[in-house]
Formats: sequence, structure tokens, C-alpha cells
Amino acid sequence: MSEALRTSFSNIGYIAASVLFILSLAGLSKQESARRGNALGIAGMLLALLATAMRPDFSGYGLLMVALVPGAIIGGILARRVQMTSMPQLVAILHSFVGAAAVLVGLATYLGHAGEMSPAEHKIHLGEIYIGICIGAITFTGSVIAFLKLQGTMSGKPLILPARHLINLMMLVITVGIGVWFFRSSETAPNGLWPLIFAIVVTGILGAHSVMAIGGADMPVVVSMLNSYSGWAAAAAGFMLGNDLLIITGALVGSSGAILSLIMCRGMNRSLVSVILGGFGTAEGTSSNASTAAQGEVRSIDIAGAAEQLKTAKSVVIVPGYGLAVAQAQHALSDVVRSLQSRGVKVRFAIHPVAGRLPGHMNVLLAEADIPYDIVLEMEEINEDMPETDLVLVIGANDIVNPSAYEDPNSPIAGMPVIEVWKAGTVIVMKRGMASGYAGIDNPLFFRPNTLLLFGDAKKTVEGLRNALTT
Ligand code: NDP
Repeated sequence: MSEALRTSFSNIGYIAASVLFILSLAGLSKQESARRGNALGIAGMLLALLATAMRPDFSGYGLLMVALVPGAIIGGILARRVQMTSMPQLVAILHSFVGAAAVLVGLATYLGHAGEMSPAEHKIHLGEIYIGICIGAITFTGSVIAFLKLQGTMSGKPLILPARHLINLMMLVITVGIGVWFFRSSETAPNGLWPLIFAIVVTGILGAHSVMAIGGADMPVVVSMLNSYSGWAAAAAGFMLGNDLLIITGALVGSSGAILSLIMCRGMNRSLVSVILGGFGTAEGTSSNASTAAQGEVRSIDIAGAAEQLKTAKSVVIVPGYGLAVAQAQHALSDVVRSLQSRGVKVRFAIHPVAGRLPGHMNVLLAEADIPYDIVLEMEEINEDMPETDLVLVIGANDIVNPSAYEDPNSPIAGMPVIEVWKAGTVIVMKRGMASGYAGIDNPLFFRPNTLLLFGDAKKTVEGLRNALTT
């Protein structure tokens, strides 16, 4: 095949892949079309690979296979094996790979042969390399820290160094200074390797420090922010390599991640800037009011008693949380829902934007168990109905139903909107013991007069409820 033909096919492939990526994002924005969106994304990626391999300047087929085949096998095995509850860690570590790739591409581009360039083009090229490497290093270390925090290897609490904003600002100023050094050293010959290495170290520390300062209930936003950073890192690599598809894909990931972060911030009543600057909440001891307020008598109920309450209720709202996901109780819950509906009970789900451990976690679980989308409502849609609800079943959720978000200004989750379950007639909370949730704080809900605790593993108790309702 002639070079011109290969270029044309490759360009058409790139355009088609870009369209598939855009359609994929559109599909992923709704549960009903998410599977299709995923399939379109996979098709786009396969096409992108083919189109890249067709380019006339591409020659490394052997190397491509050495990287691609083991990478695809390892990725496939990891994705098959990963538990739904460990997804955020997997996503975080995958983001770190994109950051590392941007750094390596930057170094290779700088040290490789750049071809003929005018002085202005040369400056732009150096700028692409420097910005790409800096974004890549921030994404890499930030994502590794997010992985360690989500995995539990590192404490989830924010690290609040004194003068941390000043430290970040100084690191930014130093990065700009090193940039000037890099440009000067690269004017006539590529002598800027040392400034690049220094820049990687400084921006790497900046990325790690920024994510260390964020913790508790703000972690979901970090996950989606890093998603956005990884997109910008990929776009930067696209500029360095002169690859339009990588620029488009990176920009799509970067902007969609940023929009998701904004949506999540709105859902948590936080400003994006305050989340990025970090340090929300969980400084040790700030939750003193919540801790003392949360002391008192807990009333418990057994499975038979809970089933009776469900049978006599007219309207029931189910609030799923992380514990439901760990216990994999969604399939038994689906049977409970059908059983209640057949008795004429109005059943709906209330979904908090940060329920579980990754954005959309609960929606995925419920969809997996064939729970109809039309009874799954967002927090703001359902909160106003709480006073008219007879019974709320909180299954393995804690932080997202914690009234101290409204009542305790010192609480680490103060200001975060929560599902106002305590306004319902009766609240049955299903959990194993009195442990706290992700934010590590007490929950006064458990001590309210209209709250009953149904202790046990969520799967076993939901199965118990299913059996009690069908007999
Ligand atoms: P929480 O983590 O607040 O609470 C989960 C509760 O489930 C725990 O109190 C635990 O209590 C209980 N539980 C655990 N295992 C089981 C089980 N097998 N059976 C029954 N109960 C169980 O979860 P929420 O969903 O309420 O809140 C999500 C939290 O995670 C928020 O703080 C959010 O900020 C954070 N987060 C969310 C992310 C996202 O993107 N959605 C990402 C990272 C963090 P016990 O041990 O007593 O059973």
C-alpha cells in the first residue's frame, strides 16, 4: 500500500475513532445506554490502534506487540478479578500509568531527534514537553497517593502541614523558575535534562502533597479530578508526539473528568477550589461534638420484626451504601423489592452522589440486579418525600445518612448534603456493628428514637428479609 493511501486510511481511522469516543461518552452518561457506551469506547480504541499502526512513519510492530499483548492480558485479568469495591483503587493506579507515560514520552521526545524546526516552533515544542512532563508527574504521584489511601495502605485522613498553601505556591514558583532554566539550556542544544529531572521531582512532590491534604468524604472528587489530570497528561503527550487522536482523546477525558468533579462538588456542597486546596475536615479531634452527640441508647430489631414493618408500610425508601456493595446483597434485595411491590408497597431507592466507593457505584450495582431505573432516584429528588415515607431501609450506608452534616458545624462532613432519612416514620439501619463509615465519624442517626438497628452482614439479613416476606 502506498504511503499516501496509508496516511488517508489512518486519518479516516482517527476521525472515526474520535467520533466513537464522543458517542461512547454520550452513552456512558445514562445507565440505560452505559453498556453501549462502553462497547463504542472499546471499538474506538481498537480502531485507534489499527489507525496508528497504519501510519507510514510507524515501524515498531515488534515493540508494539511486546508492549500490547502482555499489557492487554494483565489488564484483562485485573479487570475481571477486581471487586466492585476495589474499583476506585484500580482507576487511581491506571491514572498513574497515564501520568508516568506522559513523563516518559516527554523525556523521549526531548532526547530524540526533533527534525527541522523554526525557532518559534522549537520554543513551542519545548513548551509542550515541559508542560506535559509537569502535568504527567503531578498525575503520577497524586494518583499513587490516591491509590494508597483508597487501598487503606496509607491513612485516609488529610495531611495538614502548617503553611501548606504556601508550600504549594512555592513549588509552583520553583517549577516556573526551572522552566526558564530548561528553555535557556535548550536554546541551541538539548542540554536541559537536569532541569527536566528537577521539574519531575518538584511537580511530583506537589502532586503527592496536594492529594495527601485531601481526605475523608472528599476522596471521590479526588478520584474524578485525577481522571481529569490524566486526560490532560494524555493530551500533552499527544502534542509532543504530534498525534491528533491522542490530543482529542486526552481533551475528552480531561474535560469530562473536570465536569464530573464539578457535579460531585455541587452534590457535596463544596467548591472545587477548596477540594483541590485540600484539608477538609478530618483533622483529629474536630468532630468532638458529633462524638458526644452520638452517645445514647441503640434500639435493635430482628429480621422477623423488620419484615413485619415492611409488610405494613405503604411507602418504603431504600438507601444503599458501601456495605451493600461489600456484602453483594443487591440480588437478594431485588427479590425483596419485587416481593414488596407485589404486596402493593411503593418502593423507591435513594442514591447519594458519593455512596459507595466510586462515582455511580450504587447505580451500577442496582442495574446489575435488574432493579428498574425508574424507581432509582437521586438524593435531591427524594429528600422532599422523606416526611411522607413510612419506612426507610438503610443498607450498609453510614456517612451519606449522617445528620451531623447539618447539625454539627465542626463535623468533617459539615455542609455535605445527606439523605434526610431521619425525617421518615421509621428508619431501619442494616449493618454489622457500630463501626463508622469512610469518614471515620460517629453517626447520631443510630441513636434517634425512630431508628432501629438490624445487625448482621447485609447479604444474610437481606436474604433473611426475602425469606420472611415470601412465607
Ligand atoms: P460508609 O463507608 O460511610 O459506611 C458503610 C457502612 O457499611 C459502615 O458503617 C459499615 O458498618 C457497613 N458495612 C460494611 N460492610 C458491611 C456488610 N458486609 N454488611 C452490612 N454492613 C456493612 O458508606 P456510604 O456509602 O454511606 O458512604 C460512602 C463514603 O465513602 C463517603 O464518606 C464517601 O465520601 C466515601 N467515598 C466515596 C467514593 C465515591 O466515589 N463514591 C470514593 C471514595 C470514598 P459495619 O462495619 O458496622 O457493618
